[in-house]
Amino acid sequence: MTDLVTVLLITTVAGLVTGLGAVPVLFETRVSHRAYDGAVAFAAGVMSGAAVFSLIDPGTELGTVGEVAVGVAVGAAFLLLANRAIPHLHAGYLEWTSDSGDGPAPQTDDSLRKAVLIGGSITLHNAPEGLAVGIAFASGLEGVGMTLAFVIGIQNIPDGFAFAVPAGVTGLSKARVVGYTTLSGAIPQPVAAAVGFVLVELSEGVFPVAAGFAAGAMIAVVFREMIPSSHGHGYSDAATATFVVGFLLIFVVDTALVF
Ligand SMILES: [Zn+2]
Repeated sequence: MTDLVTVLLITTVAGLVTGLGAVPVLFETRVSHRAYDGAVAFAAGVMSGAAVFSLIDPGTELGTVGEVAVGVAVGAAFLLLANRAIPHLHAGYLEWTSDSGDGPAPQTDDSLRKAVLIGGSITLHNAPEGLAVGIAFASGLEGVGMTLAFVIGIQNIPDGFAFAVPAGVTGLSKARVVGYTTLSGAIPQPVAAAVGFVLVELSEGVFPVAAGFAAGAMIAVVFREMIPSSHGHGYSDAATATFVVGFLLIFVVDTALVF
């Protein structure tokens, strides 16, 4: 079985890929709403596909439908509860909108509060992804773990993009935007992977429930955060198309690639 250090290395590499999403900010490329919406929806499609093909599917092979279903329901409920408990922002292009939707957007000089809010959003998004990789490796499913790390690495690029583009218009230096974007993936994903790894190591046979849990949390992130972020600018058709491309990509990768 893959050991914890290797899992930490793999998820750190996948997390570091997030930094590539800041490249447009580095080169001051003007990002259209269409490109932004398309990128976020692509990441949402990849996450949905990973939840279905890399978590729910192998979950039902190793366990019962009931175990996986309970995991999905609890994972989604957990995400919604965490969503209420953890202060965070919803990503939005050109401005960060406040969580409640009724208060004013946070002031740019209130940097500590803003950092907490951004950190909350990133943790809510990235923790289920890291968790998924950790539980797969701890269950001895190297192929599933590698596939998940690979597809999560791929969708970390548009995730980073979704973070970097709004961050780029807040007046932060380019170096900071690149740095924060990179850390946004490179810290929470290995931490969550370690948590998932240790939990599954401690309790054998928990993979079907744990895989369902990670899948449910990821599906909840997609619907709660990413679909709204990719709509509202008038490019719903483009976003829908890239969502399907992302979903299909994972279907093909998961079916064709045997690590
Ligand atoms: Zn993601």
